[in-house]
Amino acid sequence: MNEATVLETVLTQLKLLHATHPEVHTFCPFPDDVHTQKIAPVHRPPSDAMQMETGLGESLYPELRDALVKLSPFAQWREAYKDTDSDPDFMNRFGCYEIVGVDALLASAKIRSFLVYHPPHLHYPWHHHPAEELYMVIAGEAEFHMKGRRAETLTSGQTSFHHSNVPHALTSHDHPVMAYVVWRDDFDVAPVWSEGTSDTMAI
Ligand code: FE
Repeated sequence: MNEATVLETVLTQLKLLHATHPEVHTFCPFPDDVHTQKIAPVHRPPSDAMQMETGLGESLYPELRDALVKLSPFAQWREAYKDTDSDPDFMNRFGCYEIVGVDALLASAKIRSFLVYHPPHLHYPWHHHPAEELYMVIAGEAEFHMKGRRAETLTSGQTSFHHSNVPHALTSHDHPVMAYVVWRDDFDVAPVWSEGTSDTMAI
C-alpha cells in the first residue's frame, strides 16, 4: 500500500473516531483545516519494533491500528526529551510520531495529535506540558498515572485526560500499548520532566 492510500485510510479513520468516540469527540472535533502534506520521513528504532509487534491484537479500532502501523515508514518519528538527561533505554524504546499538526503528514494549525507506541515493560517517567491532553488506547494496555488521581489500567477504547501542567506518567507491564494522543490549546510547548514527582504522588 502506498503512502497516499495509507494516509487516506488514516484520515478516514480519524474523522470517524472524532465523530463517534464520546470522549475524543468532546475533547475536540476533527479540525476542518486538515490537508495532506509531504514531509521527510525520520526513522527511529521504535518504528521497526511497532511494525514487528505481536501484542496489539485486541482492538476496537483494527482499521486505525493497522493504518497507523503502515504509516510508520512515512512518518517523522520523534526524539522527545533529546537535550535532557534522560534514560537511554526509554529514549530508544519509546515511540511517537505526529499524525495531525503543523509539521505532520496531516497538516493542521488547530490541534496536534500523535501516535504513541509503548513496548512492554517500559516506564515513561513523570512529565507535564501546558497543552491539555487526551490519550485514547487503540490497542494493548498500560497503567496511566496522573498526580492527584489513582493509577488506572486502560485497554482499547478507554481514555485518560491530563490537565494542563499536571504531571502524569505511563507504565506498561506484560503488554505493549498503542494510543492516539490529542493536544489542544498550548500545543507548541514541548513536555518537560516533572521535578520532584515520585510514584507516591500518583494517588
Ligand atoms: Fe503528556
